[in-house]
Amino acid sequence: MNDSMSQTCNECGKRFSGRKDKKFCDDACRTNFNNRKNQDTSADFRQINAILKRNRSILQTFAGLPDGTSVSRKDLLDSGFRPEYVTQIQPDPAGGIIRYCYDLGVRFSENKEIQVFWKSQNSVFRSSRNL
Ligand SMILES: [Zn+2]
Repeated sequence: MNDSMSQTCNECGKRFSGRKDKKFCDDACRTNFNNRKNQDTSADFRQINAILKRNRSILQTFAGLPDGTSVSRKDLLDSGFRPEYVTQIQPDPAGGIIRYCYDLGVRFSENKEIQVFWKSQNSVFRSSRNL
């Protein structure tokens, strides 16, 4: 039979014999390995959530500006907004892309100005407002 052979433990590197598909010398090593893997995952998870939260808070600041305030793409990026971290991306009926971060949206226009709006107000479809 060929299904029992010498393996190297994925956790401690020790040689052990067991079934070919066995990856760990014992339960403790398997548990340690999986715990560490889960910790890495939750670190990523926390980091991404923190960026999304920050993005939303930045958008909220811009959404609170009086109507007609001109905001440039640079203003937004300078404030720390990271456009690659959003919760939804939609094509803009007026051209380009709308990025949403939870309940706030931002539209990047051709002329380097941006519009930030609450998703519920859907002001992107009132397209002539700030253009
Ligand atoms: Zn081991």
